[in-house]
Amino acid sequence: APARIAVTGLAVMGSNLARNLARRGFRVAVHNRSSARTEALISEHGHEGDFVPAETLEELVASLRTPRQIIIMVKAGAPTDAVIDELAPLLEPGDMVIDGGNAHYADTRRREAALKETGLHFVGAGISGGEEGALNGPSIMPGGSEESYRHLGPVLESIAAQVDGVPCCVHVGPDGAGHFVKMVHNGIEYADMQLIAEAYDLLRRVGGLAPAEIAEVFRGWNTGDLESYLVEITAEVLGHVDAGSGAALVDVIADEAEQKGTGRWTVQEALELGVPVTGIAEAVFARSLSGRVGQREAVRRAFGAGEPAVSDQDVEQLVDDVRQALYASKVVAYAQGFDQMRAAGAEYGWDLDLGAMATIWRGGCIIRARFLDRIREAYDKEPGLASLLVDDYFRDAVANAEAAWRRVVVKAVSAGVPAPGFVSALAYYDGLRSERLPASLVQGLRDFFGAHTYRRTDREGSFHTLWSGDRSQVDA
Ligand code: NDP
Repeated sequence: APARIAVTGLAVMGSNLARNLARRGFRVAVHNRSSARTEALISEHGHEGDFVPAETLEELVASLRTPRQIIIMVKAGAPTDAVIDELAPLLEPGDMVIDGGNAHYADTRRREAALKETGLHFVGAGISGGEEGALNGPSIMPGGSEESYRHLGPVLESIAAQVDGVPCCVHVGPDGAGHFVKMVHNGIEYADMQLIAEAYDLLRRVGGLAPAEIAEVFRGWNTGDLESYLVEITAEVLGHVDAGSGAALVDVIADEAEQKGTGRWTVQEALELGVPVTGIAEAVFARSLSGRVGQREAVRRAFGAGEPAVSDQDVEQLVDDVRQALYASKVVAYAQGFDQMRAAGAEYGWDLDLGAMATIWRGGCIIRARFLDRIREAYDKEPGLASLLVDDYFRDAVANAEAAWRRVVVKAVSAGVPAPGFVSALAYYDGLRSERLPASLVQGLRDFFGAHTYRRTDREGSFHTLWSGDRSQVDA
């Protein structure tokens, strides 16, 4: 019998995805550029299900039922284009090519448009959850045409993570929508991790707690509103003792954070769209700063490290304040990420169901959290929400946390402990709720030096002040 679906690219992600498909009962054709990987998959895992190995792409295509469904799981970038170029001439109109790699959504839009010309469906599918997720149930964010999803949906939904019986997979929207949403997901992950790291740093440097004690604090937090995979594994990492040195592992790991670039993509796109994703940007920059080792050394030498004295008398209060600051800042980071998806949806005509995005991130991926149910409820209630912050639940949560949040920011600033995530989240919140912003002065300055004109609060039109003349106002 012909195979139901195919996977080409059998490194760790592709082979785990193929195994996941086979274990769910799908007859799956498998192919890799170099056949050694195909052979390894069959010899090690062939017994797990119904695999059809193929030596060449021609063989792979011939083994499939029509319309064909082929998942590409190769290195993102030029290799993906190379595979598409080789594959497309072998296919017929109506066939579906699914890119499950970490593609930039703009590449996905370009590829989708090109393949559409030939009658093929190109589906950029964001897949989250790493190797483990690929094997046991990832969060899947497919873009592409509705028609392609009618064919692919049942397969993808059955291999995705399931939470409360709901699959973590939904048709996100046309062309690059799936990869865009996956990108923002990664950006939010950056912000979430930065906030957690700041919470740890404050408890340590202001509260004087040891890593093992902070591990306990996080374990406790994981039973409340903050319950999430990242908070859970924070307790694991902080509680881990390095076997060789006997020190907390976190004290032995070099403090230079690396990045593969999806956080940077998110910020670059936010800049293009004009959406303030300050939390994600601060997280990306905080990683960059940590890696500027020479500069850190030079500045430390010039000014001294400024070791803050452990200042907090009431550690219990500090712990609870930091918990609240973390929660409020996290709400802001998600509000910003969802705002970016909304803006992109409007820009590209995607009609994204934002509540559904929260639903499919509940399982399989790094940012899975109890909190996402609240986000889904917020958008179910009011799909046109101006910001997550104004939903009743989140408004109350942030309002209740506000005093603690401010105390934490004040403490961080006065103790000299950098908390760019907490500080910028608070500034974002204060910015949005201010009656008047000093943007009016910015406009005045722009008009002064560049005759850029300004609008008035009291009447329509654009105006310019003759700054170098008699300073009268003229219509612009
Ligand atoms: P890699 O990104 O390491 O890519 C290796 C695979 O790409 C091999 O199968 C290799 O074939 C193939 N390949 C490379 N160049 C070409 C080419 N020019 N033509 C044909 N095949 C080529 O594999 P991973 O499994 O780590 O990742 C696959 C995709 O999934 C990537 O896009 C990656 O970004 C993404 N990914 C996603 C993760 C997630 O959590 N969502 C985690 C990790 C990866 P060969 O064996 O012949 O060299």
